[in-house]
Amino acid sequence: MKPLIALVGRPNVGKSTLFNRILRQKSAIVDSTPGVTRDRHIMPGEWQGKQFLLMDTGGYCAANDVISSSMIEQTLTAIRDADCVIFLTDVRSGLTYDDLEISKLLQRTFQNKQIFFAVNKVESPQLTIDAESFVSTGFTNPYFLSAKDGSGVADMLDDILESL
Ligand code: GDP
Ligand code: MG
Repeated sequence: MKPLIALVGRPNVGKSTLFNRILRQKSAIVDSTPGVTRDRHIMPGEWQGKQFLLMDTGGYCAANDVISSSMIEQTLTAIRDADCVIFLTDVRSGLTYDDLEISKLLQRTFQNKQIFFAVNKVESPQLTIDAESFVSTGFTNPYFLSAKDGSGVADMLDDILESL
C-alpha cells in the first residue's frame, strides 16, 4: 500500500493549488466548484523515487459558504485515513477562527499522527516575518511555502517522505 498524505485546512488557503503543485499537474480544480473535484481528490504522486497518494480535501464545498462543522467533519475523516497530514494555513489572510479550530482538533485528537504544519502564500520578506507569528497555533516548526511559485515545497516533501 502506498502511504496516504492528507492535505487539510480551511477553504482558500491554497490546498488544491498545493495538490497540483505536488503532483505537477492540473488534476484538482482550484476554484472550488461544488461537486467537481469529488471523484478526483486522491491522486498518486512520486517524490525522490518514493510513491504516495495525496488527498485534497474540501474542494467539493462551496468556497465561501462552508459550515464550520462540515469542514471539521471532512477534516476528521481525511485525517483518520491518512498516514500523515499537511495542515495548510494562509499568511495573506492571517490566522482565522477556523485555523485555530483545526489546530486544536489536530493537537487533541491526533497526537500520534505526523502533522506537517505549513504557511502558504509566503512570497515576500514581509510575509515571511508575518508567517513567524503562526507558531501561536502551537505548531512550532512551520514550513513556509508558496504553492503558487513552488518555493518551500521541496523541503517539506523531503521531510514528509523521510518520515513515512
Ligand atoms: P483551497 O480552497 O484551499 O483548495 O484553495 P485554492 O487552491 O483553491 O486557492 C484559493 C486561492 O488562493 C486561489 O485564488 C489561488 O490562486 C490562491 N493561491 C493558492 N496558493 C497560493 C500561493 O501560494 N500564493 C498566492 N499568492 N495565492 C495562492
Ligand atoms: Mg480546493
